[in-house]
Amino acid sequence: MKSFDVTVIGSGPGGYVAAIRCAQLGLKTGLIEKYSTLGGTCLNVGCIPSKALLDSSHHYEDAVKHFETHGIEIPGEVKVNLEKMIARKDAVVSQTTGGIDFLMKKNKIEVFHGLGSFKDSEHITVTKEDGSIEEIASKNTIIATGSKPSTLPFIQIDKERIITSTEALKLKEIPKHLIVIGGGVIGLELGQVYKRLGAEVTVVEYMDRIIPTMDASLSKELTKVLKKSKFKINVSHKVKAVNRNADEISVLADDKKGNEVEIKGDYCLVSVGRRPFTEGLNLEAAGVKINDRGQVDVNDHLQTNVKNIYAIGDVVRGAMLAHKAEEEGTMAAEIIAGQKPHIDYNLIPGVVYTWPEVASVGQTEEQLKESGIKYKMGSFPMRALGRSRASMDIDGLIKVLADEKTDEILGVHMVGARAADMIAEAVVAMEFRASSEDVARMSHAHPTFTEAIKEACLAVENRALHS
Ligand code: FAD
Ligand code: NAD
Repeated sequence: MKSFDVTVIGSGPGGYVAAIRCAQLGLKTGLIEKYSTLGGTCLNVGCIPSKALLDSSHHYEDAVKHFETHGIEIPGEVKVNLEKMIARKDAVVSQTTGGIDFLMKKNKIEVFHGLGSFKDSEHITVTKEDGSIEEIASKNTIIATGSKPSTLPFIQIDKERIITSTEALKLKEIPKHLIVIGGGVIGLELGQVYKRLGAEVTVVEYMDRIIPTMDASLSKELTKVLKKSKFKINVSHKVKAVNRNADEISVLADDKKGNEVEIKGDYCLVSVGRRPFTEGLNLEAAGVKINDRGQVDVNDHLQTNVKNIYAIGDVVRGAMLAHKAEEEGTMAAEIIAGQKPHIDYNLIPGVVYTWPEVASVGQTEEQLKESGIKYKMGSFPMRALGRSRASMDIDGLIKVLADEKTDEILGVHMVGARAADMIAEAVVAMEFRASSEDVARMSHAHPTFTEAIKEACLAVENRALHS
């Protein structure tokens, strides 16, 4: 029987990073993945393929709508070849997952393809595709089994027309009318892909605004921009039935006033969140507890109630984000190796890859109000930047929240071109506990979008230069 210092179950961004860090620290490491490719949700059916389609559809939209203004004329009609677009996305996915195979070999991590199941707290069976079973012994185990799409009890996902993000990444045709249930990250990103490609898109959101967990000003700004591009957004709508009749989908919802609304389309994307995935793990055999939300329960050291078993990423509490899973992968490995790492969860940024992009770190204005923290606010519109006008990316704003007395930055929230990359500046500033004045006094290259961060910091003291 093969034995390891650490076995990681699940090869998503949490699992494969944990395995690499364990190997770097000199621990003999095994990795179990039930699918034939490594990389988990993120690389196979999540972050990477969705961004590939967002990029392709963005190019198409630019060619159709914006090239002419730039003085670029394309003779004839610009057309979408969806099959080719999806094939390019698939190629990006296989290059990226292939990269993880390389990293496993480089770090001498033994990979097992098959379903990992606990036999007891120190033994795991791997059931392979051909039905054969291999048992391995492990001093420590890191559970990194991720998540799966959730749905509503009355919705029958048929994977053809009533679909989750996984199917939305490989459609064979552009929907005529895509109904999106859930105006969160997935709904808006994938909704925007098909909107750009020509679909009518209607979002049905239960809460009173889209991206409801982010700062309300971001939701307001993004709603404005999406509505300009003819996105239909129905907030405060409670979906109560989804029916399919041949190729037609009908979604029934109650609006804010309790009136029944029927929306008809040809595809319905259900994007109401994801749920932790623990099926097949046989956690009972190891004595590992899950909580009432189905998450593997962990303490601040990512340790389960069984001391040699850890859990990380989407399968535990907290934001379901690839970079959060990665940080936890590193942390679990270092704890097993006897180190004392730490994660500041307040500084895990959140990004929505629509265009304009939405990005956020730290506390929202609503959270500060709720906890009674006194703050100052500075905000700056992207349209006031020379860089924005040069590239015709004038939508959006940057908002900085700083402590009223100490001026320490408590939150940075942005909608705008390249916000996904710009948020890193705010993370660095907050990691080093910068004041808004510190950032306001830093030189920002001109002309760049990042000048809006400096200006928003200047605006905290009412002294923005360009607005
Ligand atoms: P996962 O990536 O889910 O990996 C878990 C792995 O464990 C899977 O490969 C699974 O097959 C395997 N597994 C499960 N059970 C077993 C078992 N018993 N034995 C063996 N293997 C098992 N996050 C971002 O930060 N940025 C984004 O842009 C982003 N975009 C997304 C877009 C979409 C459409 C989706 C669906 C998600 C997106 N996410 C994004 C979220 C991100 O994908 C997840 O937060 C991340 O993948 C979680 O990583 P993980 O390692 O915890 O789990
Ligand atoms: P989400 O939590 O972002 O959004 C779900 C939305 O559905 C929410 O706005 C919620 O209010 C709404 N909702 C819930 N029940 C509803 C109902 N009955 N009717 C109508 N609306 C309802 O979840 P998601 O978009 O499905 O994404 C799942 C996870 O994947 C998220 O946790 C997210 O962090 C992650 N993800 C991240 C990225 C990124 O980082 N760019 C991209 C995609 C997915």
